[in-house]
Amino acid sequence: MAIRPLFSASCRDCSASFGYPSLGDSAYGSWILSSEDGQRFAYVEVFSDFPSRLNSLLKTTGSRLQVWDALASLADQPTSHRWVTGIRCPHCGSDKIASWDGSGCGEVEIPDATFARADMLSDHEICEQLKAV
Ligand SMILES: [Zn+2]
Repeated sequence: MAIRPLFSASCRDCSASFGYPSLGDSAYGSWILSSEDGQRFAYVEVFSDFPSRLNSLLKTTGSRLQVWDALASLADQPTSHRWVTGIRCPHCGSDKIASWDGSGCGEVEIPDATFARADMLSDHEICEQLKAV
């Protein structure tokens, strides 16, 4: 669990304004996943246990998949909404986000992504699942 700053953005589809969390430019090796409906976030570090296992698996299999996309597809899902790596409008779920000017608008507490389900899979099973991503 970590507190992250929120930056203002607006949606091109429903013109709602909202804040989205960002790690900024200094965030090498970490990422914030968003739920498909823009309601939830999860923080993930590529050097933690399961992500580093997945990272080396991607390298050995020569997968073209980005590690963040692979992690988003394998992270535990607290709701029926899958994780995505981009920003989604929390009002309509659109990914057409416009006109953010980098101004802050508060902060949000973000839980760490967990991989309890994927961590029990064998390397082979993980590769099979990633083929569908
Ligand atoms: Zn919207």
